[in-house]
Amino acid sequence: MRRPLIAGNWKMHTNILEAYLLVSEIGKCAAGLDDRDVLLAPPNVALSSVSRVLQDSDVLLASQNVCWAEKGAFTGEISPTMVKAVGGVASIIGHSERRQIFHEDDEMINKRVLGALKFGLMAIFCIGETLEERESENTFEVLESQIRQGLAGVSSEDMQKTVVAYEPVWAIGTGKTATKEQAQEVHAFIRKLLAEMYEKDVAESVRILYGGSVNAENVDELMAQPDIDGALVGGAALKADSFCRIINFN
Ligand code: PEP
Repeated sequence: MRRPLIAGNWKMHTNILEAYLLVSEIGKCAAGLDDRDVLLAPPNVALSSVSRVLQDSDVLLASQNVCWAEKGAFTGEISPTMVKAVGGVASIIGHSERRQIFHEDDEMINKRVLGALKFGLMAIFCIGETLEERESENTFEVLESQIRQGLAGVSSEDMQKTVVAYEPVWAIGTGKTATKEQAQEVHAFIRKLLAEMYEKDVAESVRILYGGSVNAENVDELMAQPDIDGALVGGAALKADSFCRIINFN
């Protein structure tokens, strides 16, 4: 049985005060939710203040990206040990905004995944096809290539500390959600591929999140799908009331 995970990606939103206020509200509505994991990924500058608010809570903290190295000349990056030092347990890696705006390729994303895992962080590894790729019926090919390259060298043991987030690029921040059938079809494909790459029980234990315009209205039907184990939420994670409804999915 896979434990559901709802992750909120705040992207480049919230200053320290706004982050403090938002996490305080979310912390209250997440209290007592013991059959699911809730995770927040604030901007790096707010990690430590958010961490302080979460000190006595079960809500998990993550960075929105992470470097493969522990320290060094990597201007603008955050290291896995820095994330851990502020109480972080995970990092989002390979988000489509990193891939598209900052041109992070599969090779770099793979380095980040391996680096996160090496230093004991959970890797939330994001994949997804563009609208053009979907319309030209290349979705599965694109996803397979992202998965095989992004997870190259990840052991079975580390795969169990990895979460896959399927985020169709055309559904991120657009208000267009994949239908529950479209999402389930892709999630089942990802699990089948993981079973080919790893053992079947590893594939069965990996959590696969859906991301792309998840909101209070569509979360229940998405979460009812057999291979959807959680959600990666952007816009709707920035308002306490919508995120609270999402984490309380039925
Ligand atoms: C995301 O940024 O990962 C995301 C899914 O955003 P949104 O929920 O706003 O589509």
